[in-house]
Amino acid sequence: MTVGTLVKWLEERAPLRYQESYDNSGLLVGDAQMNITGVLCSLDADEDVLREAIARGCNVVLSHHPIIFKGLKRLTGSSVAERTVAFAIRHDIALYAGHTNWDSIAGGVSFSLARRLGIQDPKVMMPRGGALMQLVVYVPKDFAADVAEAAFLAGAGHLGNYDECHFTSEGTGTFRPLEGANPFTGTKGVREVTREQRLEFVVPVALKNQVRDAVWQAHPYEEVAHSWISLDNSTSDLGYGAVGNLLKPVRLREFIARAARELGADAVRYSTANLERMVQRISVCGGSGAEFIGAAAASGADVYVTSDAKYHGFQDTPSGIVLIDVGHGESEQPFIEDWAEAIRSEFVTFAVLISGSDNRPVRTYLNHG
Ligand SMILES: [Zn+2]
Repeated sequence: MTVGTLVKWLEERAPLRYQESYDNSGLLVGDAQMNITGVLCSLDADEDVLREAIARGCNVVLSHHPIIFKGLKRLTGSSVAERTVAFAIRHDIALYAGHTNWDSIAGGVSFSLARRLGIQDPKVMMPRGGALMQLVVYVPKDFAADVAEAAFLAGAGHLGNYDECHFTSEGTGTFRPLEGANPFTGTKGVREVTREQRLEFVVPVALKNQVRDAVWQAHPYEEVAHSWISLDNSTSDLGYGAVGNLLKPVRLREFIARAARELGADAVRYSTANLERMVQRISVCGGSGAEFIGAAAASGADVYVTSDAKYHGFQDTPSGIVLIDVGHGESEQPFIEDWAEAIRSEFVTFAVLISGSDNRPVRTYLNHG
């Protein structure tokens, strides 16, 4: 099993095109041809984690945060990133980061957090708009099935937990081949009348060219009659955060205690004096999601669990919603565990381990008086 095979599998789930423009997810160090001896998963990669990888027989380190983020101009060992990258190269360790692309997908970072907190059947909290188009294409009846198949294979017709979605209707098409045409059917200068199907698909904007190539390839006509239509729809399987309900309402006091316990958080900060209120609808965003509290409130949630909230963020919460800050790493650790488990259940030829290195950048002093 090569590193490249694992990378391909990861990026089929969370394509790199879903990452933010400032991000640097993907294979950062290493050779895609290298054989995997073992994979170590960690929120952050540093030299300690790499040493742990070697000690535990792993030559791939998967991290959520990319160690090369703002770019590296030299490798002189003057920063953690420089030292980590140099160490990885010296010891033939591949470094891979899955960051905002895994924050953006249903089933990613926020979904792991949501499930860990007991949220049933979570949905994306901030479905991303502008990511879908519609393709309408007219096809002679006998070719409609082949064209639809080609479109599906290229990624068209995917809606939430469904794929191979399309709509067909039948009608009559006409065309008249002119001088210079090389028509699939018909005679130059004579109007041709054919039974055609109108096929409609949703297509992720990012896959437009891929779908176009596949459909045009499968289509028999020299000129393919079609339209690309911009959609205002948002897509249910892309976007930050997750929201859903607990099985039954609980007191806020209990919910906070559960969050602290499940996430291994030393301290949890929250924005209300009333710990006795009942809560059931919970929104979450793994990592720094405090700025999305408006979307959390709009999702109808009683509570918003995220991290890196500021003083005025706690002060200015929209009415009716409680902001809970569980800590950045604490909010993302469930994803690391789910990530490892997903890879483990797919690949059986190497071990997938979770780092035990305590490289938390933020620690809490517990004041017992
Ligand atoms: Zn993070």
